[in-house]
Amino acid sequence: MPDGTGPALAGSFVMSGYILDLTTLPNGPSQVEAEAGAEALGLAAADWPGGVRGSFGVEKTADRISVRGTLEARARLECVGCLTVFEQPMRVPFEVFAERSGTGSRRDEEALDRDAYMKFHDGRRLDLGPDVRETLLLEMPIAPRCREDCAGLCPVCGADRNLGPHDCPGTRNEESIHGGSQA
Ligand SMILES: [Zn+2]
Ligand SMILES: [Zn+2]
Repeated sequence: MPDGTGPALAGSFVMSGYILDLTTLPNGPSQVEAEAGAEALGLAAADWPGGVRGSFGVEKTADRISVRGTLEARARLECVGCLTVFEQPMRVPFEVFAERSGTGSRRDEEALDRDAYMKFHDGRRLDLGPDVRETLLLEMPIAPRCREDCAGLCPVCGADRNLGPHDCPGTRNEESIHGGSQA
């Protein structure tokens, strides 16, 4: 859609939680802001401090709902290099399409619902919570690093090498073995 020429918004909503109330959602495009704590989304509160914020463009056309926008959250991760726990801000694209159930065969609906691309709603509410949860979990880095050049832990003594040079007992041993005791 070219800038500035989009249709006027039919509505603008702020939701507590991720359940869209379809009975009050007007036809046409709306702007929806949503917020929920991690637990309400089935996520561990300790891993997602601050909860999850969503900002969506929602469009309702007859029985079809499209939701497009972004999720924002902070994930608490453990660095695979140095084992430090750190918080990483995440900003993730989010997209859901839903059609009213009963417009296709039951079997088609179940098959479509499983691939998580097309959801179904009952005309009254659309729960985006499971999709929000899944989207965030898929974006979690498999091997998180506190920073790109994390030096990791010393394989000999386990000291955090990000803190600078350390007095490593392993190195001292090596020096004495090679006759380097010139103190
Ligand atoms: Zn690290
Ligand atoms: Zn060491």
